[in-house]
Amino acid sequence: MKEYNKIREVYTSKEWVEKVNATKGICPNCNKYIGVINLTLDHIHPISKAEKGRIYTIKDVQPLCMKCNSTKKDKLQIPSETALILHK
Ligand SMILES: [Zn+2]
Repeated sequence: MKEYNKIREVYTSKEWVEKVNATKGICPNCNKYIGVINLTLDHIHPISKAEKGRIYTIKDVQPLCMKCNSTKKDKLQIPSETALILHK
């Protein structure tokens, strides 16, 4: 479990990696194959709009390609921890 700013993320790195792997490298939003390593973490409910203490589970995050993630409003920086996992 990690905590930053005002929200709590209660999923594990393993859960996230499994979720990413389940996409087989295909962005679920644009259905383009970009490879698992290029998928970025998107908070389905934007953190900027989250109430204090909101809990994000693995169901509240999704892997998106950089393009889809960056075209979303309220885009936030990917947590560096996640980036590290993805580049292993
Ligand atoms: Zn996409």
